[in-house]
Amino acid sequence: MRYCENCRVRIRTPQKRCPLCQGALSGDGSGCEQLFPDLSEETSKLAFWFKIYTFVCVLAAVVCVSLNAALPFDTWWSLFVLAGVACAWLVTVVAIRKRRNLLKNAMWQLVLACIALVLWDWATGWQLWALDYGLPAAVVAALVSMLVIITVRKMSSPEYMIYLLMCCGFGLIPLVLLVCGALKVQWPSIVSSACCVIVLAAFGIFQGGSVWSELKKSLHL
Ligand SMILES: [Zn+2]
Repeated sequence: MRYCENCRVRIRTPQKRCPLCQGALSGDGSGCEQLFPDLSEETSKLAFWFKIYTFVCVLAAVVCVSLNAALPFDTWWSLFVLAGVACAWLVTVVAIRKRRNLLKNAMWQLVLACIALVLWDWATGWQLWALDYGLPAAVVAALVSMLVIITVRKMSSPEYMIYLLMCCGFGLIPLVLLVCGALKVQWPSIVSSACCVIVLAAFGIFQGGSVWSELKKSLHL
């Protein structure tokens, strides 16, 4: 325990100066405890592994493109490997950056996955599988993972409300495509839209009251 003669306070954390007057402290540091967890080690370890991961991604891309160019292949298959590696790297970056907020993470992954699927479909001759199967599957996966996160973390409705509504709103894109007649295969979009409507309805019926009172409080109605 350290002591500030000036302010006559005991300081429990292991610091050299008084937090009030910035004066020097007397006493030894025995019995001091850190108030906040030390995250620097975790962060530097993560940064180290991320650098290795990035290097492996670049290595895989260069090896594939070189092989593709050096050997007599008919197609530029390495471009697909390149796109796949880039997608995986981007998904990892988002997962690491948003790791403190899992719902935000899930929402970002959903949007990125849909953009990647549509681009991929477009690059491979636009056969519409991204719209027919990809988008609905991504929406259902994001919805299920959000519900699991909410249940496991026992979140309150103000905490998850915005992300769940965003996910359900985004999940209505397949429904719009369905109504516009842009799809070749309808059932995946019907299933994913039904899931979104069920979740929205359950949210409105069971949590609508508390959400409304929150809104009234914040809007001063
Ligand atoms: Zn002091």
